[in-house]
Amino acid sequence: MAKKSKREMIHSPKGMHDMLHEDIGYLERILENAHDIAEFYGFTPIKTPHLEAAELFLRPLGETSDVVEKEMYTLRTKGGDFLALRPEGTAPIVRAYFENGMGSFPQPVKLYYEGSFFRHEKPQRGRFREFRQFGAEVLGGDDAVLDALIIKIAYLILREIGFSAKNLLVRINSIGDKECRPIYKKELTNYYRKKFNYLCKDCKRRLKDNPMRILDCKEPECVEIKAQAPQMIEHLCETCKAHFKSVLEFLDEGQIPYLLDNYLVRGFDYYGRTVFEIFLEDDLQKNDGGAESTGPDENKTPKIALAGGGRYDELAVILGAKNLPAVGMSMGLERIIHEMKRLQITPRTRTEIKVFLIHIGPAAKKRSFTLMEELRAAGISAGESISRDNLKTQLNVAAKIGAKLALILGQKEAMDGTILVRDMVESAQETVLQSKLIEKIKAKLKKK
Ligand SMILES: [Zn+2]
Ligand SMILES: [Zn+2]
Repeated sequence: MAKKSKREMIHSPKGMHDMLHEDIGYLERILENAHDIAEFYGFTPIKTPHLEAAELFLRPLGETSDVVEKEMYTLRTKGGDFLALRPEGTAPIVRAYFENGMGSFPQPVKLYYEGSFFRHEKPQRGRFREFRQFGAEVLGGDDAVLDALIIKIAYLILREIGFSAKNLLVRINSIGDKECRPIYKKELTNYYRKKFNYLCKDCKRRLKDNPMRILDCKEPECVEIKAQAPQMIEHLCETCKAHFKSVLEFLDEGQIPYLLDNYLVRGFDYYGRTVFEIFLEDDLQKNDGGAESTGPDENKTPKIALAGGGRYDELAVILGAKNLPAVGMSMGLERIIHEMKRLQITPRTRTEIKVFLIHIGPAAKKRSFTLMEELRAAGISAGESISRDNLKTQLNVAAKIGAKLALILGQKEAMDGTILVRDMVESAQETVLQSKLIEKIKAKLKKK
C-alpha cells in the first residue's frame, strides 16, 4: 500500500466532506420539517446499518446498473463476509421489514429514515461519494393513494423548507409491471437494435441487459434517439393503466403540479409502475453551465432533481422473500442545501439566541462562566464569546447573531452584583441587580 504524504493526510477522501455548523443548520431545518410531516402521516423512524451484505444490492439494483458495476464500495471482512457500504436506502428497509417481523404489524407499515449513503461516483457539481438522504417508505400496500401520499410528502417537505410552488414540478411516469413491461422491453429493444451504431458505448451494452436504462442515458446521441422511442404508457396493461390514472387523480385532488414524462425511468431494476422525480425548475439555472439532463423538447427542460422514488412491488421477491407491494421516495440533502443557499432560502435556527453575555476583565469573566448556566437553567437562550476579552469584538459577535439584548458585565458590576442590560435595537441601556436579571430579561423579551 502506498504511503500517504503528510499533505494528503490532511485531506478527506475525494468526494467526501466535512459538514460544518452552517450546513448543519440547513440540514437540521430540513430534517425537522421532514420529521414533522412524516410523523403527522403516521411514519415512524428506522435506522439500518451502514454496512450490509453486498448481495442485498446486487440483484435488486441490477447487476449491470452503474451503481453495482462501478460505484458500490465493497469490502471483504477478515471473517470472509462480503459487505457493501449502503448505496441506497430501500433494499435495507425491505430486509429490515422481514427480519423484524413487520409483516405482523398493521399494514401498510410506514417508515422514514435519514443518513449517509455511499457511491464511488465521478465527483461533479453537487455530487458526493458520501451523501445524505432523507427517505420514506410505505410497505405492504398497493393502493394508488399510497403512491400519491409518498409524492405528496416529498413535495410538502420541499415546500415547507421554503421552495416556492412555482419552482417545483413532479415529473411522473408508469413503467408497468411484470405483465406488461416485458412486452414493452421487447419493442424497445427492436427499436434500439435498428439504431445500434448510433448508441454510446454504455448503451450498446445496456441494450442486451436492460434496454430501459438507455432512456436514462445523458449522452447527447442517446438523448436524440430517445425522442422517437416507443413509450411505456402506450403499452400499459389494464391494471397498470387504472392504477396510474388513480395516482394522477389523487395528485390532482392534492393540487400537486405534475408533468407526464413518458421517458422517465429510474436507475434500478426493482422499480415498477409509478416512478417520479421532483425537479426544481428555475430560470436562474439556465446559464450557469450546469451539466443537468435535458428532457423531451415539448416539455420544460428539467433542471435539478431534489427528490425521487417510485413503486417497487417486485423488490421483496427479487430478494427471495414474500410478495410485498411497496412505494417510497428519497431526497438528496446536500443538493437541497446547495439549492437553498443559491436561492437564499434561510434555514430556521433551532433556538434563536436572544441575549448575549459580554464580560470586561478577569473577575467579570469568572462570573460570566457561572452566569451562563443561570441563564440556561431559566430557559433563556444565550450566546457568549467568553474566550474573547475585547469588548468591541464581543459586541460585534452579539450584533452578528442578531441578539436582542447584550448583558455587559464589567469589573465594577462584577464586584457590586449588578449588570448592564443593553437593548441592541434601541441602543439604550440600564443597570440592574444580577438577582433581578432573569426577571428583567423576560420582561424585556416579552415586549419584543
Ligand atoms: Zn447512451
Ligand atoms: Zn401492467
